[in-house]
Amino acid sequence: MSKGNIGVTSDNIFPVIKKFLYSDHEIFLRELISNAVDATTKLKTLSSVGEVKGDLGDLRVRVSIDKAKKTLTVSDHGIGMTAEEVDKYINQIAFSGAEEFLNQYKDKTEAIIGHFGLGFYSSFMVANKVEIFSQSYKEDAKAVHWSCEGNPEYTMEDTIKAERGTDIVLHIDDEFSQYLEDATIEGLLKKYCKFLPIEIAFGKKKEWKDGKEVELDEENIINDINPAWTRKPADLKDEDYDKFYHELYPMQMDEPLFHIHLNVDYPFNLTGILYFPKIKSNLDVHRNKIQLYCNQVYVTDEVENIVPEYLTLLHGVIDSPDIPLNVSRSYLQSDNNVKKISGYITKKVADKLAELYKADKEDFAKKWDDIKMFIQFGMLTDEKFYEKATGFALYKNLSNEYATLDEYMDKVREQQVDKDGNMVLLYTNDPDAHYTYIERAKAKGYDVLLMDGELDVHCMSQAEQKHEKLRFVRIDSDTIENLIKKEDAAKDTYTDEQKEGLRKAFENLLPNDADKLKYNVTCEAAAADALPVFLTQNEFMRRMKEMAAHQQGMSFYGQMPDSYNLVVNTAHPLIQELVGKEISEEVQEEVEKDGQKETVVKTVYKLEGEDERMKQLIDIALLASGQLKGEALAKFVNRSVELL
Ligand code: ADP
Repeated sequence: MSKGNIGVTSDNIFPVIKKFLYSDHEIFLRELISNAVDATTKLKTLSSVGEVKGDLGDLRVRVSIDKAKKTLTVSDHGIGMTAEEVDKYINQIAFSGAEEFLNQYKDKTEAIIGHFGLGFYSSFMVANKVEIFSQSYKEDAKAVHWSCEGNPEYTMEDTIKAERGTDIVLHIDDEFSQYLEDATIEGLLKKYCKFLPIEIAFGKKKEWKDGKEVELDEENIINDINPAWTRKPADLKDEDYDKFYHELYPMQMDEPLFHIHLNVDYPFNLTGILYFPKIKSNLDVHRNKIQLYCNQVYVTDEVENIVPEYLTLLHGVIDSPDIPLNVSRSYLQSDNNVKKISGYITKKVADKLAELYKADKEDFAKKWDDIKMFIQFGMLTDEKFYEKATGFALYKNLSNEYATLDEYMDKVREQQVDKDGNMVLLYTNDPDAHYTYIERAKAKGYDVLLMDGELDVHCMSQAEQKHEKLRFVRIDSDTIENLIKKEDAAKDTYTDEQKEGLRKAFENLLPNDADKLKYNVTCEAAAADALPVFLTQNEFMRRMKEMAAHQQGMSFYGQMPDSYNLVVNTAHPLIQELVGKEISEEVQEEVEKDGQKETVVKTVYKLEGEDERMKQLIDIALLASGQLKGEALAKFVNRSVELL
C-alpha cells in the first residue's frame, strides 16, 4: 500500500470543491458517468484500430445504490486505469487525461467527453470518502484500489478485480442522503444521461401487474444511445423525428409543425434538430426549451446566449463540443464560436423556412398562424433574419388569403396607391368592430388585411421603414376617402365659417373627458353614402400608444388619453340640412379660480332646435364603433323610440 498527497498546489482543495466549485451538487453524477462513458468509448476506439483484441463483451455502465453501506457506485467496462495512470490522472489533478488521449487518436475520437474540467473530484461535493477499483485493459496490469477521504491524503494498493474497467464508489455524506434514493438518481440520470452513446443501466425494469409494481429480470436502461440528431437525415423519416420529439418532451402532446436537422463540421462542430412547435399563447413559450448537449451529455436548457433570442421559442437539441461550457454567460456572448454558431443556426432556419414556403405555399400558409409569432420576433430582432424572412413572412387578408408583402403589394397596387404615389395598405385588428369601415373599403374595391397578432403593429412599422412609399393604416383611422386620397376627392361648397359653426355645435354636445377620452371634431366631405357622423382614430397616435404598452421609454405616449376624431360628413344630406342653422349664444357660467367663484361669459354654439337630432347622430357614430355603452346606450335607445 502506498500513501501520498494529492498533487495540487493549494493545501486543501476539497473545501473549495465542496462549497464553491459547483453550485449544482447533482452534476457529480454527470461527471462520473461521463468518465465511465469516456473510458468505454476509448476502449471501442482502441478495438477499432486493433490495439485491443477480441470481443469487448458487456459494455454497459451500471449505477447502483447500497443503502445499508450508504454507497453509490458507478461501474464501467472501459479501458480502466493502471496504478501509474491513477497516479497520473487522479493524483495529479488538473491534468486532463482526455486531452492527451485526444492528441494521440485525433481522428477517431468524436465522442470523447473530456470537457468538464475537474470532473472526478466533484464527487467530493457529496461524498466523505471515494474509492476507485480499476483493472486496466492492458495485459499484465494489476488491479488498483485507491481511496481518499476528502483530504489531500490518499491510499493506493494492489487489489483483485475480476473484470476489466472501473468502479467508482462514493460514500455519501449524511447531508446528501437524497443521493441514496432511487427516485433521485433515476431522475438525474434521465436528465443528464438520456442520450449518452453507451447504455446506462440503473436497477431493473419495472412493470405494473395487477395493481402492483413488479421488478422484471431485464435491466432498466436509461438512455437512447442513437438519438435522432446523431443519425443521418437520409436515414430518418418524419415519424422518426416526431418520435424523437416526444422522447425529448414526454409531457408534450402536440406534434411539432416541422423540423430542421442541423449538421456542420466546419468551422465548428454542431449537430442537432430544431422543431417548430405550435405556439398557442405566450404562456406556452418557455415550457419546453432547447436542450444543449456536449457529445450527447446534457449540459443545460439555458441556451439564451448561444442561439438568438427568438430561436429560443423553438424546441429541440443542439449538440456541440465547441461551445465553452464552463465559462460565464457574458463571456459566451463575446465568444467567436458562439457567434458563428448563432449565425449559422439563423441562416439554416431561414433557409429551411424559405424552402418550405417554396415547396408548398398552401401548406405553409396553413401553418402560418402557428409560426407567425416566432418569425415576426426574429424579423424584429435580427436584421439578417429579416432579409431572408421577407421571402416567406405572410400577411393574411379578410378572405383568408395569404401572401408575402411583395406579393400582396403587387396585388393591390392598381387600387391602393394614392395621388402622391404612396402604397396604402388597409388593415383591421377587429373585423367585427370595424364592420362598417370594412364594408366601405370593400365597396371601393380595396382589400383589408387582418392584423390582430401581438407583434403586428411592430412589424408594420418595420415594413414602413424598409419601404419608402408604404403606409399601413387601420381601417377606422380616417374616412376611407382620406385614407387613400385620390385626385377626384369629393368637396363641399360650404364656407369655413359655416363649417366652424357646425363643428363647434357638435363639439358642444360631446362628452370630452380630458383624462381618459378626447374627441376632436372635424367637418369633411366624406361621401354621401357614408354615415353622417362617424369616428376615426389617428393611426400614428394609436400605434404609438399600442407600442408604448410593450416598450420601455415610450410611456409618454402610453399616458396620453385615447383620442378620436368625430367626423361630421358634410357630403351627407342629413348634415347638409343642418348647415346654416348654427347660432351662437352667450351664456354665463360659474367657475372656480384660486378658490374664488367667478362668473365668466362663454359663447356656446348650437343648432337651432336640433340638439336631439345631433345627439342621435353622435350616438350612431359611437354605436358604429362600439363605444356606446351603459347609460349612454340606454338614453340612445329611449331617444330612438321617441323619435319614431
Ligand atoms: P477529465 O474527465 O476532464 O479529464 P476527470 O478528473 O474527470 O477529468 O478525470 C481525470 C482522468 O482520469 C480522465 O481523463 C481519465 O483519464 C481518468 N478517468 C477518470 N474516470 C475514469 C474511468 N471511469 N475509467 C478510466 N479512466 C478514468
